[in-house]
Amino acid sequence: MTSPFPPHIRVVIFDADGTLRRVTVPGKPCPHGPGEWEPLPGIREALAGLRWGEGGLRMGLASNQDHVFYGHLTEAMARRLLMDAAEVATGYRPPEGAVRFCAHAMDAGCACRKPEPGLLREAMAFYGVPPGAALFVGDAEVDREAARRAGVAFLDVRDLLAQRGLAPSAMSSPGASSHQKT
Ligand SMILES: [Mg+2]
Ligand SMILES: [Zn+2]
Repeated sequence: MTSPFPPHIRVVIFDADGTLRRVTVPGKPCPHGPGEWEPLPGIREALAGLRWGEGGLRMGLASNQDHVFYGHLTEAMARRLLMDAAEVATGYRPPEGAVRFCAHAMDAGCACRKPEPGLLREAMAFYGVPPGAALFVGDAEVDREAARRAGVAFLDVRDLLAQRGLAPSAMSSPGASSHQKT
């Protein structure tokens, strides 16, 4: 499968909720346990045929997980669910050190919660790559802004799916069609 990413990109960092996975429990913004999420429709078809890991694209995650701070799930569970989603989406389980998340309160003012660039910088540092060799895939404005602040290219997941010929109509996010490229 041809890569949807430019050839100079060595590390692809993903947002989780609304990008790799979506929650299956009404009213929850993110899963609190196994069985509360499913892969985003189309994401496996878009990513699983690519070569991930050693000798291929390196994968990272950057996710705001303030529900850890609010006590809805443990840090260990948040990490496990993020790694599970990454593995289901790509067929490859990323190294723990590349799976970065912010477990602080929404108003903590930390340097990691997106749109701050901390999580992206941590993932790049794990692989030892400069911003020019990384790309961030997300679904929200905070993702785009975090990428901008980190100096990293950004790709909207809806554009990724559209590039692969995967129906954006399968997406749950409102306004998805406005992100389609011709
Ligand atoms: Mg998201
Ligand atoms: Zn944080």
